[in-house]
Amino acid sequence: MIIVHDILQARENIEGVIHETPMLYSAQLSEICGNQMYFKGEHLQKTGSFKIRGATNKVKQAVKQGATFITAASSGNHGQAVAYIANQLGVSATIVVPVDANESKLNAIKAYGGTIEKCGTTSAERLPRAKVLAREHNGVFIPPYDDPFIMAGQGTIGLEILEQLECVDVVVVPIGGGGLISGILTAIKQTKPKVKVIGVEPQTANDTFLSLKNNKITAIPPTSTIADGLRTSQPGNMTYPVIQKYLDDIQLVSEDEIKQAQAFVLERMKQLIEPSSAVTVAAAINNKLGVKDKKVVCVLSGGNVDIRKLPYLSS
Ligand SMILES: *Cc1c(COP(=O)(O)O)cnc(C)c1O
Repeated sequence: MIIVHDILQARENIEGVIHETPMLYSAQLSEICGNQMYFKGEHLQKTGSFKIRGATNKVKQAVKQGATFITAASSGNHGQAVAYIANQLGVSATIVVPVDANESKLNAIKAYGGTIEKCGTTSAERLPRAKVLAREHNGVFIPPYDDPFIMAGQGTIGLEILEQLECVDVVVVPIGGGGLISGILTAIKQTKPKVKVIGVEPQTANDTFLSLKNNKITAIPPTSTIADGLRTSQPGNMTYPVIQKYLDDIQLVSEDEIKQAQAFVLERMKQLIEPSSAVTVAAAINNKLGVKDKKVVCVLSGGNVDIRKLPYLSS
């Protein structure tokens, strides 16, 4: 398991590449939720999501060991982050994406200097392809969450939260493969264990919820949710033990609750966040945190939305 020292190291490694994102506050949401509601703004992070933190830590490590070629298997935020940092560090990156990936995502990867290879429609096809490509070109495959350098990079958010809001009581974090929350849990529980950490998943992608319930890693069949960053089938072999050891609570939110929360944040807070971020706000608005009069931080993990899905703006 990673320790807080790995996260401090990651912080040094990624300094100068990433933004220290702002801590936002909403009086309106505080009123509605009965808590003081703060928001860690990773939707304002470079490349539009926190994924750049772990990707930078991992790709820098690979480059230090001599890598000149990087691969990843993701058309989403991880793919964009890896393409961006590889370009910054002067190594080439090939991002393996599904044949049906949407153009706006592919354009973002290309704009960051990444090469695109299309392969299949499932991660079971893409992952092995990205690994083979890496091996053939003497490169390094960058996994999306199940890796100590990725987890430590994401954990730097936990350190920033503790500094920006010293008296924080509760931190609310979305769960996909668990890289983000396992990093944040390590940072918080190894320095301020009294701070409560609550994870949130979509009802339709409840693999970590089920794993905790069954007391072992449990896979779910391919699923659909508007929160595309949380659409994993099971938590990672490295992330899950951290979650199991430290997590205080896990809550589920419905697709309607996610959409309402995203719209609320746009309309009232003037912040454009993606559905995967909105799950934390959805849990707070729908009274699922089980706390009152506390200082609560919801992690807004990313802001990459396809504006063609926001009808009025896209005409
Ligand atoms: C990847 C991602 C998540 C989930 O992170 P994991 O490390 O897979 O748990 C949450 N929100 C956004 C915006 C993401 O891109």
